[in-house]
Amino acid sequence: MALLTCEGVTRTFGGMVAVNEVDLHVNEGEIVGLIGPNGSGKSTMVNLITGVLPPTSGRIMFDGRDITGLPSWKINRRGISRTFQLLRLFKSLSVADNISMPLHPRHRAGLLASILGRSEATAEDEASYAQACELLDLFELRAFADRPASDLSIGQQRMVELARGIIVNPKLFVLDEPAAGLSPPNVDKLIALIRRLRDERGITILLVEHVMRVVQELCDRVIVLDYGTKIADGPPREVSEDPKVVEAYIGG
Ligand code: ADP
Ligand code: MG
Repeated sequence: MALLTCEGVTRTFGGMVAVNEVDLHVNEGEIVGLIGPNGSGKSTMVNLITGVLPPTSGRIMFDGRDITGLPSWKINRRGISRTFQLLRLFKSLSVADNISMPLHPRHRAGLLASILGRSEATAEDEASYAQACELLDLFELRAFADRPASDLSIGQQRMVELARGIIVNPKLFVLDEPAAGLSPPNVDKLIALIRRLRDERGITILLVEHVMRVVQELCDRVIVLDYGTKIADGPPREVSEDPKVVEAYIGG
């Protein structure tokens, strides 16, 4: 069953068409890759699905309901979580606080209090701390819970971004280039971890990725964009041999 469906989704910036009449779907429990050359509209597509940008036209359905044009916090509450292409951690806050931040709708006040060193632990804070630690166990970073995020390597920071994305128990997790800047061993860890999120937690995954090894090893299906248009949709092996896809990557 389709969890996410985009129908004729278009987004223009001035006269430029960044996403052009895209139809796509992601089934419940699938890991779907979204690939394409630089500037082909992948991040824009992610922004449309997660409500960071409204589509110029078209319709987006999630979990049986129309989410077209809803603000991102509402879409997040309906069960879509995401990571960003660029890391967005608060370096001076603890790793656990970074992860549990999405649990606190009034997190700005909490953030200010902790920066000023005036935070008082409530029962709610302790529960979210425990949840953050449970995820840190999964990500093998438990020892960093109370350390500032600035103590982490880039690879570890990416893992913390993932943890922050799943603490709200999303149905769909959208990842924008999670392997960017990771060493090969960390890419292996990332692949194993994303697979576990699907297999053990039932989270459906939409993955924008440049590192082809990640796509080949992880994805059940791959969708290819070129100049904002969908040019292929199928199993990774089939798509990688599609002449249109080869042309898009080589022809530029
Ligand atoms: P990708 O993630 O596949 O590299 P993007 O979705 O970031 O591609 O960009 C697709 C096209 O849309 C590019 O030509 C980019 O310059 C343009 N674009 C993306 N976001 C904006 C924006 N906010 N304003 C204007 N142009 C944008
Ligand atoms: Mg991008």
